[in-house]
Amino acid sequence: MNSPRAVIPSPAGRPSLRSLDDALAELLAHAVPLAGSDTVSTFDADSRVLATDVVSALQVPPEDNSSMDGYAVRSAELLEEGAVLRVSQRIAAGSSGGALEPGTVARIFTGAPIPAGADAVVMQEDCEPVADREGFVRVQQLPKPSQWIRRAGEDVTRGATVLSKGERLTPAALGLAASIGMDVLQVARKPQVALFSTGDELVMPGEVAPEQMRPGAIYNSNRFFLRALLARMGCEVTDMGIVPDRRDATLDALRSAAAAHDLILTSGGVSVGEEDHIKPAVQQLGRLDLWQIAMKPGKPFAYGRVGSAHFMGLPGNPVSSFLTFLLLVRPFLLRLQGATDVAIKPIAARAHFTWDKADKRREFLRVRRDAQGGLELFANQSSGVLTSAVWGDGVVDNPSGQRITHGDSVQFIAFSEWLA
Ligand code: AMP
Ligand code: MG
Repeated sequence: MNSPRAVIPSPAGRPSLRSLDDALAELLAHAVPLAGSDTVSTFDADSRVLATDVVSALQVPPEDNSSMDGYAVRSAELLEEGAVLRVSQRIAAGSSGGALEPGTVARIFTGAPIPAGADAVVMQEDCEPVADREGFVRVQQLPKPSQWIRRAGEDVTRGATVLSKGERLTPAALGLAASIGMDVLQVARKPQVALFSTGDELVMPGEVAPEQMRPGAIYNSNRFFLRALLARMGCEVTDMGIVPDRRDATLDALRSAAAAHDLILTSGGVSVGEEDHIKPAVQQLGRLDLWQIAMKPGKPFAYGRVGSAHFMGLPGNPVSSFLTFLLLVRPFLLRLQGATDVAIKPIAARAHFTWDKADKRREFLRVRRDAQGGLELFANQSSGVLTSAVWGDGVVDNPSGQRITHGDSVQFIAFSEWLA
């Protein structure tokens, strides 16, 4: 997130909001990596963060080998196209041949070691059998030295650090670890997260049928995407369900969550209404370090501590909750696991829409790519409209006070990268 630091004018009597960049920097300063690591099967290590460097005890490939099915040759012996040579040996992948007899070629297959003395491979499409001379081949092409040979160690050299502590493992990284013989990997332990939603209006899907919902009731949607997001971030979740909008219930929930968790994550109840009990309860039990950020949606975000647990309060509005998770909770959780690279990289894209409602706060607009490679805007940008985050395939990170005209270059963040 590199957009210019937002300068937020402070109306008389109201403290100015924290800029998102400042807030994130402060959060990351609090995110001291958790002690302890797990040894897991390489099969199960996808998305985990490495707790140690992974160093190779061997080179990959282990020796020079053929990258084609064909014939291994001594290139200096081939002086003209169409030369006929005897096939003196056959080397398949998984076996190894002897030194190549001068004046002959070796039948060779992809992945098989190059025999000593050979310095090139001619692919079989450039060779043909010789009628009446079994065991001989006509080489139709003059090979260049080294052609179709994969060199020993060209992927990994012995002693190389192939993966570094703090790297988040991808499927390709698991394959690379396996290629140097690692059947287990040491990874950061999973953050223990206690999750609860606040709101007397909330009902769980399945508990009350849609046609039986009482006036004012809504289904708890945040709980579903927050649990899924936490799982993607490698967390173990204790789901404490819905906590009523009462001070005593909020205090009880925070107290019991603080005991055995690294992070308490809540949604709702963190604004300034009389029914918003989260902030005073956190202040009573612990401390609040951060509250209210100059972003839209997502302004009421809060961070603090309760006992030894970190606390993060997300706004109740679903899109606010979703985006503050991605912008603030995600990097925090990755850093708790010791991840070095926690930033997502926005890319420049063309706006195929106009945005006249420049806000004082930095704004995250739900958009999706169109067939022309530009971005179209979801019509309703309200923080309650979760459809925008499903229709969209990302957001435009729009600096404060910025209007957007059709054709402008804007900063786009793809959900596909963010949700990984
Ligand atoms: P709050 O932050 O508690 O003031 O809630 C702001 C808005 O978000 C209200 O309209 C709530 O009904 C709604 N809301 C709060 N929590 C949830 C939730 N878990 N799922 C869906 N909507 C919610
Ligand atoms: Mg509420």
